[in-house]
Amino acid sequence: MALPGTSSGLHIVHIAAEMAPVAKVGGLADVISGLGKALQKKGHLVEIILPKYDCMQHNQINNLKVLDVVVKSYFEGNMFANKIWTGTVEGLPVYFIEPQHPGKFFWRAQYYGEHDDFKRFSYFSRVALELLYQSGKKVDIIHCHDWQTAFVAPLYWDVYANLGFNSARICFTCHNFEYQGIAPAQDLAYCGLDVDHLDRPDRMRDNSHGRINVVKGAVVYSNIVTTVSPTYAQEVRSEGGRGLQDTLKVHSKKFVGILNGIDTDTWNPSTDRFLKVQYSANDLYGKSANKAALRKQLKLASTQASQPLVGCITRLVPQKGVHLIRHAIYKITELGGQFVLLGSSPVQHIQREFEGIADQFQNNNNVRLLLKYDDALAHMIFAASDMFIVPSMFEPCGLTQMVAMRYGSVPVVRRTGGLNDSVFDLDDETIPMEVRNGFTFLKADEQDFGNALERAFNYYHRKPEVWKQLVQKDMKIDFSWDTSVSQYEEIYQKTATRARAAA
Ligand code: ADP
Repeated sequence: MALPGTSSGLHIVHIAAEMAPVAKVGGLADVISGLGKALQKKGHLVEIILPKYDCMQHNQINNLKVLDVVVKSYFEGNMFANKIWTGTVEGLPVYFIEPQHPGKFFWRAQYYGEHDDFKRFSYFSRVALELLYQSGKKVDIIHCHDWQTAFVAPLYWDVYANLGFNSARICFTCHNFEYQGIAPAQDLAYCGLDVDHLDRPDRMRDNSHGRINVVKGAVVYSNIVTTVSPTYAQEVRSEGGRGLQDTLKVHSKKFVGILNGIDTDTWNPSTDRFLKVQYSANDLYGKSANKAALRKQLKLASTQASQPLVGCITRLVPQKGVHLIRHAIYKITELGGQFVLLGSSPVQHIQREFEGIADQFQNNNNVRLLLKYDDALAHMIFAASDMFIVPSMFEPCGLTQMVAMRYGSVPVVRRTGGLNDSVFDLDDETIPMEVRNGFTFLKADEQDFGNALERAFNYYHRKPEVWKQLVQKDMKIDFSWDTSVSQYEEIYQKTATRARAAA
């Protein structure tokens, strides 16, 4: 184990827009706390910098207090003060930035989706670096995530390195290339970046719009660029890169795909406080007790204990295959199963469409559509379900298929991105039997998806012993951060060593 402050113990700071469970929208939040904790366990000094959102779960923060310092930071030609709060989340030290700016950037009762998101997060990225600069901390790795904090990379090398703050190296992780932070070039100037210098094809100019692209900037300016699975890293080198494929090819030497892990403390059926009954692979009684409890809670039919229950927990956005999720409702009922969907959509017409379907099915006691975000219910659905669907169009990593397996819910997924790196079809004879763990399909159509569901139902009904062994095997797979954290450690370490040698 490395000790902080020793030659192998690194000082790592994550700058991010989300962190579970205090400010969570999707998988990014899980990664910040999961990876952060895993690095901390390995003996590194890990700190997180987050915005201080009004809507975050304050009860998830220990010892929240405001520091006796005010950090002044540049924005749109002026200096603005920022209150800095500290606290501990999941055992990790976190700095929360509260801007004293008239724009009230993080007082919006939601995390994203504001008209001025570009401004809000470029502001945050600048203050986060200013905080590190003013603190005089000797940071080895500054790790930024997604477009919201991608500004950090060019800001660090073009602004702060010139002030002598240059011993750290920048790692950027893109959790989803669909969101790139594209804006008119002049908007870069808000946070003090030099538009003329950066609005060039080999720097931050978008490859097709002629605007500027912040994710491109982070790819160009970071020392390490990662994405969240090896298959997705391949996919984004062609169409999956959403226009950034050529940039990724130019910078391919520093680009790698590392499969996310899951936080096995949070997602542990044998200790999970949200469950009615805790259980493990060797004692599955609790799994059926949770199924019965969820059916009761949601007023689903419960006369037949063995009727398969299928779960789906997702943001309802086109990426997630909403048309296939919709199809699943009909297909699963046709197959004699029950379906529970927990999901909400930032896209109004999708939310309305699913509200319509929910109304249509309200008297059907085999279907429940719960169109909201609900962490406690998510835990119960993972535990109660026999199968779990993830029919994504593309999926950078996907966490729910891994959580589902840990809870003994067999995944039925489309073979794309991180799903392709974590789910292996039970009937695929080209794959060693010991790694086969679920059901997959390739074509994003109702027929292929339907076939995979039918095969799963067949095993469930006709080969209960095989099914039970599959459930037990899935629950024992190691999806912890242990493997992936070593890959991050290795690239951090190499980069930091080179930086020290250069100094
Ligand atoms: P993405 O980051 O694209 O949303 P991931 O599968 O990587 O997808 O991560 C999604 C995370 O958010 C998982 O932890 C999942 O359980 C959680 N989640 C998604 N929707 C909901 C919801 N409606 N209620 C509770 N948790 C949800």
